[in-house]
Amino acid sequence: MGRKISSSSSVLLLFLLSWSACSVSSGADTLSPNRPLLDDGTTALVSAGGSFRLGFFSPDGSTNRYVGIWYNNISIQTVVWVANRRQPITTISGNLSLTTNGTLIITGEDNSTAIWSSGSPASALENPVARILDDGNFVVQEASSNGNDDPNSFAWQSFDFPTDTLLPGMAVGQKQLRTGVILDINLTAWKSPTDPSPGQYAFGLDVRGDPQIFIWTETQPYWRGGPWNGRWFSGVPEVKDGTDGVINFYVEKDHTTYLPINGSSTIVRWTMNSSGHLELLVWIEARWSVSWYIPKDHCDRMSQCGNNSYCSSNNSPPCTCLPAFHPTNQHNWDMLDGGDGCIRTTPLDCRNKTDGFFTQSGTKLPDTSRSTVLANLSLEECKALCLNNCSCTAYAALNISGSGCLIWTDDLTDITVYQSGLGQDLYVRLAAKDLVLASQALHHHSNRKIIMIVVLPVAILFLACVAYSIWRWKKRSSHIDYEAEEKDMELPLFDLNTIKDATDDFSIDNKLGEGGFGPVYKGKLGEEQEIAVKRLSKTSTQGVDEFKNEITLIAKLQHRNLVKLLGCCIQGGERLLIYEYLSNGSLDTFLFDEVQTVLLDWRARYNIILGVARGLLYLHHDSRLRIIHRDLKASNILLDKDMNPKISDFGMARIFGGDESESTTKRVVGTYGYMSPEYVMDGIFSIKSDVFSFGVLMLEIISGKKNRDYGQSMSQLNLLGNMWIMWKEGKSLDLVDTNFSHSFFENDVLRCIKVGLLCVQEQPGDRPTMSSVLAMLVSTDNISLLPEPKQPGFFSTRLSSVNSDYSNTESLSINQASITAIAGR
Ligand code: AMP
Repeated sequence: MGRKISSSSSVLLLFLLSWSACSVSSGADTLSPNRPLLDDGTTALVSAGGSFRLGFFSPDGSTNRYVGIWYNNISIQTVVWVANRRQPITTISGNLSLTTNGTLIITGEDNSTAIWSSGSPASALENPVARILDDGNFVVQEASSNGNDDPNSFAWQSFDFPTDTLLPGMAVGQKQLRTGVILDINLTAWKSPTDPSPGQYAFGLDVRGDPQIFIWTETQPYWRGGPWNGRWFSGVPEVKDGTDGVINFYVEKDHTTYLPINGSSTIVRWTMNSSGHLELLVWIEARWSVSWYIPKDHCDRMSQCGNNSYCSSNNSPPCTCLPAFHPTNQHNWDMLDGGDGCIRTTPLDCRNKTDGFFTQSGTKLPDTSRSTVLANLSLEECKALCLNNCSCTAYAALNISGSGCLIWTDDLTDITVYQSGLGQDLYVRLAAKDLVLASQALHHHSNRKIIMIVVLPVAILFLACVAYSIWRWKKRSSHIDYEAEEKDMELPLFDLNTIKDATDDFSIDNKLGEGGFGPVYKGKLGEEQEIAVKRLSKTSTQGVDEFKNEITLIAKLQHRNLVKLLGCCIQGGERLLIYEYLSNGSLDTFLFDEVQTVLLDWRARYNIILGVARGLLYLHHDSRLRIIHRDLKASNILLDKDMNPKISDFGMARIFGGDESESTTKRVVGTYGYMSPEYVMDGIFSIKSDVFSFGVLMLEIISGKKNRDYGQSMSQLNLLGNMWIMWKEGKSLDLVDTNFSHSFFENDVLRCIKVGLLCVQEQPGDRPTMSSVLAMLVSTDNISLLPEPKQPGFFSTRLSSVNSDYSNTESLSINQASITAIAGR
């Protein structure tokens, strides 16, 4: 047996030796038909100038082998192209070879079946070679033109088949290959950071109508960058061509978009990442920094506000109907769900040619996939053409310089209005009557007479409506009584057996977690709908009230940043709440976990901060009721599959009526570390106590540390205290979580720290309202224009007396009062 093994090993060794003798040597830049590249763990092709390397690799955490290209000179292996992303080699003995007709082939262990091939060239090559170039392109060409970088000499090039990365000189768009095949060149994200197979998100150019860049998720539009206006894509005004350094786009006539070929000496790449962001990354100070990314906020999601309306992230609510349009579904619109969009108030009157145009300035132009492009018309000709075409709903200049014509003939969708003034003019067709109203509403200062005639009656009508709503609301709130509310809540009632089926009879395997209320289970209704079921624990003494509280409250609330209650079940002694299922669970499991926390980059954290702020603003100001959550904390923020935050757990929440702004309670409930001084010490709660908790949450998100646990061994200052002192010393960035790179977002991070510190100020009166918080967060004003934060409340790990006046941080004298009255959760 021993001999047999040794004889076969020597045969194998001989074979490998003879094979490797004719395989390519490491460091060469070309592959020829008789010299394949073997996966021996080290051999790779290196481009002539030493910029890129092509070889076999395994992503971190995987043993699969892939042929890929990565940077040769940077310390972090960053793969920019993968050949066999769909078919990994599961052994270590694959090889890459070039056939005599110029086809690249990857074979696995048995050396016979090709697991990947570049496809035959349009015409067979006589003497082919494959070469890795210094721009990262892997090309097949005739040996005689080896050294010629003219793309016309390439029979095949990897730049035509990108994976998730666009390097300077690469393109996305449509291209006709020499074989006659029309190729859609897109970026498709990796499935996950450890799996290069095609993931959910893709970035590319849709050439229909006026071509636009898109991110798609499973072929559905997810983000629309809008059409090219000669200087930038309409939805990306901050990314222009020209001389803006590395952030350059070029568009060519053949409908392909290009990154700059001369991307300066900086190493840059565009990557569609597996969490759905298109990022521009720059290699600086030995690491990759994100210099720009999209989507950034709610308005960047495709068609958030439906048809004939626009989204503006500075507004609350963000959706507004175009002038002279009104919500299609007023109820949903009032609930801040803009998806149904808006409809025209007065029909157009094409026959009599009385229609006109309202100028909506500063826009990302509506979806142009079904628009008509007339490049040679002037804007005046465009207007005339639109007026004469009864289907025309709007027009705009094709080019930012004012030339060319774009015409829409159906509903206008996915418009954004920018506050920065960077957007474009969109001319919306309106009936003559509406036109007067729309322009008067816009220029109401210019004509007082018309205001008296038109706007005043509207205002009176509006005031009458408000008065009526207040009267109705008062009438209703005077009856706040749980029994009545339960009847009134119009919440679907689920059958217990349905929920038992959905959760596998509350199987322990389906348990998601446990809150103060009882266990929470995952379930599935039918084939599709995933749910989370909160089961009131039978041993819970306080649960029944909180259960009722949660039902009556949430049933009335709908906002994208509040967890959605789908229904409830009160049957056979069971009390169940059925929610939408949020696949990423609660924020604390990311934020305070060493491994998971790296998944929260600055973008994700900022998105969470803004989302929670919007949800809280809705509770405090925008919803029909004024609601104080009273238990805002990281574990009560749930994250959906796209890491969008939703506030959950309304068991402790309280409704305020009329002009009531604060209340007191003998039963102080909440969570240590998040509660404001006046609430803990005097039982006073108000919207400002929620603002305090929000401030703590913000600082936790930025630092990745729990306020309560912070620095217990080092000092008696908690996170708030440390952050405040470091802020005053100009060193607050030292406390930022090192698990995300923030060098490119320092201003945003500092703004958030300052706003967080304003929220946790000791005196409730000094704390901003949630509407000011949001305004400060999204403002582009200099941070120094924000008020300076005063001393935070409770800034010691051992609670200080709120009455102590610490005007000088150097001479802290900590009065060690403790809160024993807190029912911590
Ligand atoms: P709660 O009772 O709201 O504090 O929930 C307890 C735990 O159950 C949370 O920390 C989550 O991990 C999980 N959970 C609650 N609601 C949901 C939901 N809608 N989707 C997914 N997980 C949830």
